[in-house]
Amino acid sequence: MIFIGKKTLLCSLAALLVTAFAFFGAATVVDDVAHSYPPLGAVVVIDAGHGGMDGGVVGVNGTRESELNLEIALLLGEILTARGVAVVYTRTSDDALSDIKREDMNMRAEIIRDSRPDCVISIHLNSYPRDASRRGVQVFYDDTGRGGAFAALMQERLNATVNYRYSKRTDLAPQSGDFFITKCASVPSIIIECGFLSNEQDEKLLKTQAFRKELCKEIAETVIFAVS
Ligand SMILES: [Zn+2]
Repeated sequence: MIFIGKKTLLCSLAALLVTAFAFFGAATVVDDVAHSYPPLGAVVVIDAGHGGMDGGVVGVNGTRESELNLEIALLLGEILTARGVAVVYTRTSDDALSDIKREDMNMRAEIIRDSRPDCVISIHLNSYPRDASRRGVQVFYDDTGRGGAFAALMQERLNATVNYRYSKRTDLAPQSGDFFITKCASVPSIIIECGFLSNEQDEKLLKTQAFRKELCKEIAETVIFAVS
């Protein structure tokens, strides 16, 4: 399945850029895609980062990243499933896939390859204790793969919606890097760092179901828009 045609992508990016400049335009984008549906057979892998012995980063008030990653991943999957997307999870419990980190990662890669997905989303939470004021949701991708356009689309939407509403951050840009999970398949693959556990307000927000729902809805709409 063609993921994002050049023309579609340019139109989408143009639409989203407009929303970055005009806050009230954000509602228009939400309305535009609210009634769209993915093509039959669209498959998305959702990877909840860490798990088991590897709890990921720890929040200022002790929240474990791995637990919140799972909550967010399951909620995102629920929303996508309700919209007709076939969702494959790399984990659905607090356990990792193996006690050995390398094996755990290889098993995630195997799930991704076997699923033949249209895109991959790995859910994580950020931490930057050196500057506890840092907030917001940021997207990461591997610039050797096909994730760049998808990451840009996702970041623009998150900036125009949750980042603007909660942390007044509309300037966050997607970051490229060398990430194992985004190299497992040749389809667009991104990591979404859903907030900073080193920031007390972000940690508090991420622990509420209302925020997680709002965030997952925006991610899901972008996924559906992108795979359609
Ligand atoms: Zn993480």
